[in-house]
Amino acid sequence: MDYERQPYRRCGRSGLLLPAVSLGLWHNFGAGKPLDGQRAILHKAFDLGITHFDIADRYGPPIGAAESAFGQLFPRSLRDEVVVTTKGSNPMWDGPYGKGNSRKHLLATLDRSLARLGLDYVDVFYLHRDDDATPLEEQVATLDHMVRTGKALYAGVSNFSPERTAEAARLLRGLGTPLLVHQPSYSLLNRGIEASLLGVLEQEGVGCVVYSPLAQGLLTDRYLDGIPADSRAAEGRFLTADRVTPQVLALVRSLAELAQARGQSVAQLSLAWALRDPRITSVLVGASSPEQLEANVAAVDRLDFTDDELSAIDRAAKE
Ligand code: NDP
Repeated sequence: MDYERQPYRRCGRSGLLLPAVSLGLWHNFGAGKPLDGQRAILHKAFDLGITHFDIADRYGPPIGAAESAFGQLFPRSLRDEVVVTTKGSNPMWDGPYGKGNSRKHLLATLDRSLARLGLDYVDVFYLHRDDDATPLEEQVATLDHMVRTGKALYAGVSNFSPERTAEAARLLRGLGTPLLVHQPSYSLLNRGIEASLLGVLEQEGVGCVVYSPLAQGLLTDRYLDGIPADSRAAEGRFLTADRVTPQVLALVRSLAELAQARGQSVAQLSLAWALRDPRITSVLVGASSPEQLEANVAAVDRLDFTDDELSAIDRAAKE
């Protein structure tokens, strides 16, 4: 582990530090992926100072496989050196208690996650998405309960609107379990959180760990010469080939020129760009190889931007 490789940034106004670049296990961990490859990515991550691994109950396939892989492959002796997060809300099993944000479902899905991970506790438990059929009071009281019973150290929400985030933060503060972190999507192709969510998080002292900062690979050189057979767009489950549009490719080509002048790749520029705002605690990347991960962490070698560079990026993104 090289703790000098990347900066650690404070998560909101909490005591918790997270690496600028963190690893998510949504893809590339589970059935059909060689165990050696999964192990190599996890070990490379740790070597690169990635102390933060983001998972969810449903990640696989099959459901639960990413948590099982982490439990099987990550050395237990390093538990105190890493932050492991999971989430609940998505459909996990049949029947009325198999999904959603009821206390009934969430407590059961966390117990199953802990069993797969082989852990006594996760560092953060996230509500994966809001559930307007369950009172917000019940949702946050369940997070508070998880923290008080020691099954989670901190509480998080993901994909919540700015208004519901502010309300959840207020309710959690009242319970004595502050909201640690929000996990929204954010990239040069998806800047929605700039309008008001980031302001809410700053005001509430909540950290922001952003997912898909490379837009699932679109903001890299991966698709410049077509759709590689081993790519996520070829797999077509969550990123479909029709998202590789001429406009996206034109943006990537424009970014490539700007990136080259900075001594970066398009992926590195895209990650550094997301980290330019101090309200962003960490970018949560995925990687299908240790080499991709190593290249992505190198984004931290050049995080500063001139105003001219930022304007040029804005112009390219608007075209
Ligand atoms: P990214 O936007 O970082 O996309 C990762 C993919 O981009 C990789 O699998 C790879 O695709 C490609 N890629 C990565 N680095 C490079 C590189 N240097 N050069 C070329 N291609 C590269 O993030 P994800 O969409 O994977 O999301 C990251 C994490 O965020 C997830 O694992 C999960 O933990 C979290 N997440 C949370 C959600 C939520 O609702 N809370 C929703 C989605 C994600 P390829 O496989 O083609 O090589």
